[in-house]
Amino acid sequence: MNDCRLTLDEIEYWLRQEDPSRLDLLWMRADQTRRQNVGDAVHLRGLIEISNYCSRRCRYCGLNIENRHLQRYRMTADEIFTCVEKAVEFGYGTVVLQAGEDYGIKTEWLADIVRRIKKQTSLALTLSLGERPIEDLIAWRKAGADRYLLRFETSDKALYERIHPSVANRPGRFELLTVLAQLGFEVGSGVMVGIPGQSFRSLAEDTALFGRLDLDMIGIGPFISNPLTPLGSGELIPSIDSAEQVPNTDLMTCKAVALARLVCPQANIPSTTALATINPDSGRELGLTRGANVVMPNLTPLCYRTLYEIYPGKACLNETADGYNGCLQARIESIGRTIGFGSGGRIRKSDE
Ligand code: SAH
Repeated sequence: MNDCRLTLDEIEYWLRQEDPSRLDLLWMRADQTRRQNVGDAVHLRGLIEISNYCSRRCRYCGLNIENRHLQRYRMTADEIFTCVEKAVEFGYGTVVLQAGEDYGIKTEWLADIVRRIKKQTSLALTLSLGERPIEDLIAWRKAGADRYLLRFETSDKALYERIHPSVANRPGRFELLTVLAQLGFEVGSGVMVGIPGQSFRSLAEDTALFGRLDLDMIGIGPFISNPLTPLGSGELIPSIDSAEQVPNTDLMTCKAVALARLVCPQANIPSTTALATINPDSGRELGLTRGANVVMPNLTPLCYRTLYEIYPGKACLNETADGYNGCLQARIESIGRTIGFGSGGRIRKSDE
């Protein structure tokens, strides 16, 4: 196994590997690569889910516009600020503002919020607001936003088109990822693991692509079936051989995280809420010991958090920020790691 230079066949071999003693080798290499490149600090990013309105029809996501069962909300600037203050109080280095692709979030309104956060705090600011027009991305970057998260979900074109209907005459996710990098954002992307119809080969291709895109951040979580979506209600039947279908398990997610660490040694990689959702006892720790170095505690007010229902049973629903911090710290220390200070941005070898 050769860090950074894994072939597609090698990646697929590891994704298919089920022998625990062989897998121990993968976990060891991923953990070692993580330690050598990004150290033992676990960076905390406070997640604020600012709106669950969405104009898109993604077949996997509970926020999609066709879901009539969801009560919609959009936080006010003051409400967002109260959460930002909590991030400062808790000593986090970053806040992430995430939402559906909501054009009720006006460009200038958000630019003002970005400016205020950057002026009044020393937090790094990440946005995750979907496929917004390039002018919006430019305005927010100018206002001071540092990072942008936009998962490509799967690099299998046919599967992507099936689960993520596009909008005519608009740049796609890959084009936007290039634009974001050109604008000087730190760029995050990633995938869901175990989407119905996702093959081992295509997940291997996704992983290799992380390396080619030289991503600064990589988010990987299991696909969790949401009965209020077409993909979760069985409307979309995938035509794929069962031996080729990637399972949406915690083990498979960990393999994808470990391999992402090997192809992108310096990236910031969260142990995701989705992983903690399918394995509430130890999902967070498993991610952190198999390549991840970031956790994104949820700062969204509870009344809204329950409505940001991308998938059911989100792990963070029973985490109230204050009590949760102590618990999170204990969990991080229990695996011999420390909590990171500062903004925890991508460190490139050439910067050192
Ligand atoms: N509107 C933004 C943020 C979406 S939510 C965007 O589209 O980028 C963030 C991530 O949640 C998505 O990128 C997707 O990978 C994940 N997600 C959505 N539905 C999911 C599901 N059913 N199971 C697991 N993850 C899901």
